[in-house]
Amino acid sequence: MLIDPAFAAAGHFRKGNIHTHSTRSDGALSPEDVCRAYRDAGYDFVSLTDHFLARYGFPIADTRLLRSARFTTILGAELHAPATSLGELWHVLAVGLPADFAPTAADETGPALARRAADAGAFIAIAHPAWYALTMEDAESLPMAHAVEIYNHKSHVQTDRGHSSYLADQLHATGRRITLCAVDDAHFQGHDCFGGYVMVKAIDNDPEALVASLKSGTYYSSQGPVIETVEYREDEVEIACSPASVVMVLGRGSRAEKRVERGITRVTLPLDTIRPGGFARVVVADAAGRRAWTNPVWW
Ligand SMILES: [Zn+2]
Ligand SMILES: [Zn+2]
Repeated sequence: MLIDPAFAAAGHFRKGNIHTHSTRSDGALSPEDVCRAYRDAGYDFVSLTDHFLARYGFPIADTRLLRSARFTTILGAELHAPATSLGELWHVLAVGLPADFAPTAADETGPALARRAADAGAFIAIAHPAWYALTMEDAESLPMAHAVEIYNHKSHVQTDRGHSSYLADQLHATGRRITLCAVDDAHFQGHDCFGGYVMVKAIDNDPEALVASLKSGTYYSSQGPVIETVEYREDEVEIACSPASVVMVLGRGSRAEKRVERGITRVTLPLDTIRPGGFARVVVADAAGRRAWTNPVWW
């Protein structure tokens, strides 16, 4: 029997944004104001992931004093080093870094830097691949990555390159067990906040517990829709969600089963065409076109 840990594990869903910038790099708001904005918007946690570059002093924004009983922070950074196959600097999201993570060495490549961050305990995500036309070869050079940003809100709003399901689907088709995260990449400049987030299952709203759940895929991602349960059975999957217009289960290549109907909140979809592809993942879309994505499960 397949189990999606996000819906089977004990604990509560904690809403968080794991890709954000502040005045420690090129964001418009101070770390204090970024945390306040997310806390006031009802988020349970945020990770400030400023650009880890020499020109900003290799910042790891220390947000530990901004933690409270109902809101927490995870230390992180967006890592950069040469070079993708198009010759651009890598963008790698690292969530759960130590405050003293050492600056990038002069000869350190993107994949080597990502490896060092993973070894330091961070959750690693391939940031906004559609935004800079990251290739499969690039993605395969990051075997330590836990996730792909399936949705990056800033990239969507400001460059129309926010959706990266193409890369996740190709990786999954090769058997790569990588999860999917939605993020804001907020700089608080031009409608780039509160558009993509993760719902992480954890018993306590504690940074270490949240990072552990991210690494184990115990979360789903959303632009707004709520997924309450996903239950895989032998031949079908049952999904309960906030009122949706399309609920679908996707598999390898073009494999898909769906129900299209206004206001649906409970759907059962068959898996017989999906199963031979080796994996399944669920997407819920509401009437406004906003989506929620589960992580893939594997036969
Ligand atoms: Zn970036
Ligand atoms: Zn960024």
